[in-house]
Amino acid sequence: MILPQHIVVGSGTLELIGKICAKLRLGGKVMVVIGPHVHKIIGKEVISSLEDEKFNVDIYIVKEASIDEVKNVRKIIREVNANTVIGVGGGKSIDVAKLASHEENKPFISVPTAASHDGIASPRASVKGYGRASSISAKPPISIIADIDVITKAPYRLMASGCGDIIAKFTAVKDWKLAHKLRGEYYGEYAASLALLSANLIVKHAEYISKRITESMRTVVEALISCGIAMCIAGSSRPCSGSEHLFSHALDMIAEKPALHGEQCGVGTIMMMYLHGGRWKKIKKTLSIIGAPTTAKELGVKDYEIIKALTIAHKIRPERYTILGESGLSWEAAEKVARITGVIE
Ligand code: ZN
Repeated sequence: MILPQHIVVGSGTLELIGKICAKLRLGGKVMVVIGPHVHKIIGKEVISSLEDEKFNVDIYIVKEASIDEVKNVRKIIREVNANTVIGVGGGKSIDVAKLASHEENKPFISVPTAASHDGIASPRASVKGYGRASSISAKPPISIIADIDVITKAPYRLMASGCGDIIAKFTAVKDWKLAHKLRGEYYGEYAASLALLSANLIVKHAEYISKRITESMRTVVEALISCGIAMCIAGSSRPCSGSEHLFSHALDMIAEKPALHGEQCGVGTIMMMYLHGGRWKKIKKTLSIIGAPTTAKELGVKDYEIIKALTIAHKIRPERYTILGESGLSWEAAEKVARITGVIE
């Protein structure tokens, strides 16, 4: 297992970046990979924290999570001979920094500015341009520095989306168990329990999360980090990603205007839980309390796009056995599950 070494979650932790980097003794040259918007808000603070500790800092502003951006970052890592790569942002910059540092064999530090998905701590990266693969294997961050003050200032929609990504663990674990029983696939109870623990915490805290209570926001961040750790322990994304994620990836491919990753996974969880014969109404209720989408309308996608995504989801990662089976859902069956669960009208 490769696990993160140093995890800091709390209020005002942003200014500790320099000190934490110094403590890790990774060398004096640091490359910061950051999005344009986040750069405007906290860029200065990040850089001065590093410069106060006498680090030589180079900055790259990432526009999108694409293979070209990964190449650009790799080039600069080599040019400036960076010892460490720090990804600062919601998703794109973390993914690009994670993959580029992995390919250049440099340690990576994750500084999430939003709690929108479990990629902030996971050993996987989602980057466009790597064929049909929904995510690529990389190393987990050596350190995660999550500033709750910064994360709570991000739009609430991002946090609600993160809750959808955590709720998804209910069906991801069910799919994993199914693959274990039917396919003899390795199943790790510890990793599965850790993922479920996070999902149960979201159900428990739903009301408080919706009221933006700081302690519950912190729980969401810790739950996302735990999900990343669960993947490190399992050695795959199995405890965190099942049929509901396949549905979300399918929707990304076909929808005219896809919603956020976690939002789509949340809606996918409702429908996949129905297929598993589990308590899908509880999932739907929790997402509603949090204020996350539970219908096609709320996702901003068309009804037929939901049905289409359900019918092709099993093809996204054929080696990943789930409740969708080998042949997937027929159009009629897909329409029925979407209708019964109220995802489409
Ligand atoms: Zn996810």
